[in-house]
Amino acid sequence: MSSTLERPAVHPKARLSTEHYQLLIGGRWRDASDGATITVTSPSAGETLATIPEATKDDVDAAVAAARTAFATWSRTSVTERSQVLLRIADLIEEHADFLATVESMDNGKPIRETTGADIPLGVDHFRYFAGVIRGEEGSATMVDENMLNLILTEPLGVVAQIVPWNFPFLMACWKLAPALAAGDTVVFKPSSSTSLSVLELARLITENHVLPDGVLNVVTGSGTKSGEYLQHADIDKIAFTGSTEVGRGIGIAAAEKIIPSTLELGGKSANIFFDDCDLDLAMEGIGLGILFNQGQVCSAGSRIFVQCSFLDTFMQRATEEFRNVRVGDPLDPSTQMGAQVNETQLAKILSYVDIGRSEGATVAVGGRRLTHGDLGRGVFMEPTLLTDVDNSMRVAREEIFGPVGVVIPFDDEDEVIALANDSTYGLGGGVFTSDLGRAIRVARGVRTGRVWVNTYNQFPAGAPFGGYKESGIGRETHKMILHSYTQTKNVLINLARKPGGMYVPPEH
Ligand code: NDP
Repeated sequence: MSSTLERPAVHPKARLSTEHYQLLIGGRWRDASDGATITVTSPSAGETLATIPEATKDDVDAAVAAARTAFATWSRTSVTERSQVLLRIADLIEEHADFLATVESMDNGKPIRETTGADIPLGVDHFRYFAGVIRGEEGSATMVDENMLNLILTEPLGVVAQIVPWNFPFLMACWKLAPALAAGDTVVFKPSSSTSLSVLELARLITENHVLPDGVLNVVTGSGTKSGEYLQHADIDKIAFTGSTEVGRGIGIAAAEKIIPSTLELGGKSANIFFDDCDLDLAMEGIGLGILFNQGQVCSAGSRIFVQCSFLDTFMQRATEEFRNVRVGDPLDPSTQMGAQVNETQLAKILSYVDIGRSEGATVAVGGRRLTHGDLGRGVFMEPTLLTDVDNSMRVAREEIFGPVGVVIPFDDEDEVIALANDSTYGLGGGVFTSDLGRAIRVARGVRTGRVWVNTYNQFPAGAPFGGYKESGIGRETHKMILHSYTQTKNVLINLARKPGGMYVPPEH
């Protein structure tokens, strides 16, 4: 991930547009119908940042109704018009990139070098990618036989519910909004209650600049067990979800009962595989991108680190040194490499897994503790951590920790490591580090996951499909193929014959 190193000029809190956010329903900003709010705190400094509404069932239903009304006209806009809207949104994000990056770092705890270098520009690129892709989409028309014209048309699907988690709030919004709007759908969007601010600020920019007609984009904030539950059971035509496998399973069942499509981007326990012929510098960058990027809170994190036995000692010596030197600190300091975990609950979960690992016989090779010295004591900070003496059957190798904790598992050869990598209920990401291209491709093809990086990790360019095998989900995002899941196919068969076919009326009649 590239990064810029400019510090935001103004204190971040002074740059939030408000300290009391509202719901966006039908183009109007309003409080929750019962006035309930949730307080948002900074994971790095512990201070209150703002309040967001806790949407009620009435609010969610009102948002869905507004989206339904807006669909009647938005679904009939031309591809050119929608493409221009997406380009305008991309421009707006770019114009306000520093602001949005600051809000995201403040709200989520991720380092500003990541938000300015990855989350925000990748979001911009995503809107531009789909603005271009829809211009190139073509329907088809064929002659079935001499008399029958077969028209295949693509039509917008309807009102789409979108629910995203807290680890990439802004980027996940771009991944989901761009294809849905491009397809001609209207949206009710629910961010995580832990990290709603960047999406609310994006929605504010869109409404203030009159980029979308009222009701095309609606944002309902609130907890998953309230607004999320209401939304998944509302009068919607599709649900797109990113989050845990546990919640995703319930959403898939709810969608099946309504007979509507769902796309699910879920968890992972991905294998990052290092062969002894790899470039050690690339490997060290790859282990960091795999398990430290975004504080390890990445669905595709390279959390199972498989290292060939023949160079395990060399690898571990260098990796422990690199992990000790990672700069953990204030997310808004451009030199910070790892920021704060998202909240106390998440940190407690991560630390409990370190204890579980110890009780299973693992050794903490580096890290393993909360960081509390100086200003870090005000926030939720964790040491970059590697556990050794781990085998693939332990809980720390099977369950998603979702923090900067990698487990190191030795292996001897290609066949063994492919079998170990595949011994998981998940199948989202994976990495192979080697100088042997043939081996890289053999391993990439042997591993049953939706994405494999070779000699790098956790890169997410638009145009490269991302999604999971097995319990990691259904569907692929960040590629034009997702448009199919936001559209319906309409087939029109046209008889061109001058006379009846003869089934009921003779042709000579
Ligand atoms: P959750 O599944 O708990 O939450 C995800 C979203 O769903 C949040 O907006 C949450 O709201 C909401 N939600 C929670 N419960 C319900 C419910 N019953 N009905 C409807 N919505 C609900 O996941 P986390 O937020 O803890 O995110 C981490 C998980 O997401 C990890 O497992 C990770 O692997 C996965 N993930 C997958 C990605 C992928 O592309 N495959 C990308 C990023 C993350 P709230 O937070 O307000 O409670």
